[in-house]
Amino acid sequence: MTKAKSLKKFILLSAVLSAILLVLCACTLPFGKQPEPVNLPEGSYFEVHFLDVGQGDASLILCDGEAMLIDGGNSEESSFIYSYLENHNITHLKYIIGTHPDADHIGGLSGALNYADADIAYCSEEEYDTATFYNFKKYLGKNEITLQVPKAGTELTLGSATGKIIGPISTEAEGNNNSLMIRLEYGNTSFLFTGDAEWEEEAEVLASDYKVRSTVLKVGHHGSKYSSSRDFLEAVYPKYGVISAGKDNSYGHPHPSLLNRMEQEDILLFRTDLQGTILCTSDGQTVSFSVEKNLDADVYEATNSYIADNID
Ligand SMILES: [Zn+2]
Repeated sequence: MTKAKSLKKFILLSAVLSAILLVLCACTLPFGKQPEPVNLPEGSYFEVHFLDVGQGDASLILCDGEAMLIDGGNSEESSFIYSYLENHNITHLKYIIGTHPDADHIGGLSGALNYADADIAYCSEEEYDTATFYNFKKYLGKNEITLQVPKAGTELTLGSATGKIIGPISTEAEGNNNSLMIRLEYGNTSFLFTGDAEWEEEAEVLASDYKVRSTVLKVGHHGSKYSSSRDFLEAVYPKYGVISAGKDNSYGHPHPSLLNRMEQEDILLFRTDLQGTILCTSDGQTVSFSVEKNLDADVYEATNSYIADNID
């Protein structure tokens, strides 16, 4: 073979190899933004337990040995909350949070405080004239914990997870629209808890600079039709939604129009009224779900037999 011929062959071979490499690279590199590298310590973990407390809310978040309880269902759920913490050997909560003073959110927190102590207690009100609220404060008192009302912007840390209170924005907010909205980040995954916030609070939060986009949305107000507006859902852009509601509750939650919005926005839905307690885990990059029962339940179907047009 002449020198010129072997050089030609070498160039041809290089060109073929480069072309193959280019194709391989094109196959392995997805178009668009690459996910940020996740920097989590060895053995780190993150779990959200959406507890089935019937018509109420209770989310237990565990990260790297630290625990946060957001709401605890009604007072009747106190013993369930107590035994859930006991079964998971959680004797200490870094945070105990009542999103707002309604009984279906703070009632069961007394059960939690009967088993575990806590460092920080938050609620959207410091005083509230109901027996349930007095009871919550009584148990906080027994544990020498002072109830605080955090402002929007308050930062949280739980193990390797970080978070922020992003609502309510207005200090004049009342009722459901005075629910603490909490957004947590773990690696590249994020979680938004909205209490019973309705369109009014959602709009205020959207008008603020706080980041709302989240992988998982704990759907507001048990799936009521006045929560999770289309604007809010499009801004949060969740891949997954979780509704906490009681089977055949008298409020008609979750409402068919909300279920339609969730389906139209392609949000993969889980429901405690159909599927029991729902466990969500994150490795910092992706989240996975497991349910207590009925994995194949028709979650977009309105199953509540109490539903009527005049039900909110
Ligand atoms: Zn509620």
